[in-house]
Amino acid sequence: MNTPCFSYDMAILNETLHQLNDASSKRNYKVHYAVKANYNPQILDAIMLNGLGADCVSGREIAWALEAGFNSDKVVFAGVGKSDEEIAYAISNDIAMIHCEGLQEAITVNEIAKSQGKIVNIALRLNPNVNANTHAKITTGLSENKFGFSVIELNKLILMKDQLTNLNIQGLHFHIGSQIRDLNIFKSLCEKVNDYIRFFELNFNTLSYLNLGGGLGVNYDNPDAELIPDFEAYFATFEANLLEKNIEVHFELGRSVVAQCGKLYTKVLYVKESETKKFAVIDAGMTELLRPALYDAYHHIDFNGIAFKSDVQKYDVVGPICESSDCLGKDVQLPELRRGDILVIRSCGAYGESMSLNYNGRIKQAAVYC
Ligand SMILES: *Cc1c(COP(=O)(O)O)cnc(C)c1O
Repeated sequence: MNTPCFSYDMAILNETLHQLNDASSKRNYKVHYAVKANYNPQILDAIMLNGLGADCVSGREIAWALEAGFNSDKVVFAGVGKSDEEIAYAISNDIAMIHCEGLQEAITVNEIAKSQGKIVNIALRLNPNVNANTHAKITTGLSENKFGFSVIELNKLILMKDQLTNLNIQGLHFHIGSQIRDLNIFKSLCEKVNDYIRFFELNFNTLSYLNLGGGLGVNYDNPDAELIPDFEAYFATFEANLLEKNIEVHFELGRSVVAQCGKLYTKVLYVKESETKKFAVIDAGMTELLRPALYDAYHHIDFNGIAFKSDVQKYDVVGPICESSDCLGKDVQLPELRRGDILVIRSCGAYGESMSLNYNGRIKQAAVYC
């Protein structure tokens, strides 16, 4: 195998989708896959065939979803900085819903819809100020975050909503952050959402669309103990805590769908020592897996081969990129390593390959699917 190389276990992905569908469909919840987590055509294809919709954050993601065969009426579009071209593209393809994140954006969507002679469905992304208790760089639902309508702009929208004749303001959208493992956080979200629904119905119409975003976390510490996230407990939390029972409820899951099906295979180039540390210099780095450098994320690292417990050492597993933050694991316990040994970085299916970079002249290898 050429390394570094992403490998995807399609059986795990399909079983994950199966369990996700079981847990969502019995509550009549609709799930859109967050394309940004992994947009490889083979992955999108499996997800489309399992009946999910697509949650896109750019015009190109919408194009990829449509090319993969997702029906436009199952495609939704979020993002804090949608360009005029992206909005026009979304409207001309009649996607299901645009999630608007601010007043100027709503006005722009209305103008572009008018120019195309269409009425566009939108949902308002609100910032519920719920602390997702996750890494600061993947928290999105606090008022200090850039996402969603603020109360000031929401009130301005209420005053001018009758002038926005090409918008059909159908509902609300929330997404508070990612890698959320404590389901009580989703319970707090529901409590806020219950209030916002009343507020929406007082000031707009009857709410016909509610999208609660994604964010369900996965077990990075011990992936084999939990290859498939507990979707049943996740959806049960919403079922138990949402007061309004007669609205269409949507979710947008990314990480929890694809993280555990992906692994990154990498080769040990060199083993070296400093006065205080042993380093394993590998041929994958932050250019293949940015999460440790960007979010201090932990990924489990396995030795690929027969290991003898007696030889266990601690290594900082570092990549070849000219940045000190290019470290994929600190003090990782591994058997004594030699040049050419293969390591397997686990839980890389989400925000691994999709975040990969060309920095330092890095070239992307084709992934393998098994
Ligand atoms: C990234 C994103 C998601 C998916 O988040 P996960 O944590 O991967 O489930 C859902 N909704 C929006 C708006 C997003 O930006």
